[in-house]
Amino acid sequence: MKVRTRFAPSPTGNVHIGNMRAAIYNWLFARHHGGDFLLRVEDTDRERSTPEAIQTLLDAMAWFKLDVDEEPLYQSTRMEAHLEAAELLLSKGMAYKEDKGGKGQGECIIFKMPGNDTSFEDGIKGTLSKAAENMQDFVIVRSNGTPVFHLANVLDDIEQGVTHVIRGDDHIENTYRHIALYQALGADVPNFAHLPMIVNAQGKPYSKRDGDAFVGDFREKGFLGDALFNYLALLGWSPGDDREVMTRDEMVEAFELARCQSSAAQVDLRKLTWMNGEYMLKLPLEDFEAAFFQELEKAGIEADPEYAKQVFGLIRERVKTVADIAPMIGYFFNDDYEYDPKAVRKKLQKDGVADTLAQVKGIFESLETFDEAGTDKALHNFVESSGLGFGAVMAPVRIAVSGVQSGPDLFPLLAVLGRDRVLERICRTIEQFLS
Ligand code: GLU
Repeated sequence: MKVRTRFAPSPTGNVHIGNMRAAIYNWLFARHHGGDFLLRVEDTDRERSTPEAIQTLLDAMAWFKLDVDEEPLYQSTRMEAHLEAAELLLSKGMAYKEDKGGKGQGECIIFKMPGNDTSFEDGIKGTLSKAAENMQDFVIVRSNGTPVFHLANVLDDIEQGVTHVIRGDDHIENTYRHIALYQALGADVPNFAHLPMIVNAQGKPYSKRDGDAFVGDFREKGFLGDALFNYLALLGWSPGDDREVMTRDEMVEAFELARCQSSAAQVDLRKLTWMNGEYMLKLPLEDFEAAFFQELEKAGIEADPEYAKQVFGLIRERVKTVADIAPMIGYFFNDDYEYDPKAVRKKLQKDGVADTLAQVKGIFESLETFDEAGTDKALHNFVESSGLGFGAVMAPVRIAVSGVQSGPDLFPLLAVLGRDRVLERICRTIEQFLS
């Protein structure tokens, strides 16, 4: 039997990371078993399933490089087949019509539960069962003649030959009903696996209120699709060793439903940010550099490409997401950078700092070559001979040339800025704050 899985989202205009994780697990499972991965767009809610909402979904899949093996099936095109099946169930006495509420609004079609206890082997949660007395008959066609989710979902899974249904555990209750439907329709019941919810720190379903929850949010903030893919893959699944940053091939190779955890998974945005940084460093240099130049352009910075490349080399390892770049680089390209008021107050406007900076300026002027090694040696000598603390020298120098207290290592930073900028900035800082 060839494995066939599917992702069956209902487009709403936003794609929640929990949905995407289900897509990723279905994809990994299919690829691991050399099977097919399919897409079914459950677009029967015509108000929400706008062309834009569907496009957002397709974009998210493309961003995660979730390739499908067949053309997507659009559920809205299948209404006739769904209604025919309901008629068939009616004719077999497995469903009945009822005017719900007796309001004369027309009759809906109701599926008759067969009255037996149901249990199934869940690929993640083990054996799950429900007693007959807790399962009620349910509507499969509304009184306005439209098929209900349960009927459409099951029929389309049959149509697409789906062998494994991997979806959120909010669907477990539905699954009992779906199994009865498969049986009534004379179809093979697929294998089910229900993924635990993604939750916030309070154990409640993770939502927009807890932070970024939609794929588009992460994309806008400069996260990489590959990094978010890896992060989501590990949010509820583990390869069984301590690997975290993994290639796609490694994930496909290692993926097993049995290694999915059955309890809720908690989002940790710090970990995602860390992972994204790892992926940024793995980017081919030219891609990373291209992203850097794109950010320059967005920020309206026109710079000498050679100088810009040196700046890039300096900040590269500090960038966790593309969105980090712009705030890191302002002072490299703009001489009118702002000074952090707290840094000025605490580190600059202190006795002796004017004198220290003036002496450093003199040392830098007389240096034969103004490079990393040269400034490093000269400032260390100065620290020693002056008896000043290391921080009492380095912090004012850094703030003078950049306006802020933290950033790349000081000596490479000075070398990239170059002697002219550094001297000019030190002078200006003394004038502005210390005279
Ligand atoms: N459209 C349903 C959802 O997004 C499908 C669930 C499923 O069977 O995968 O929740």
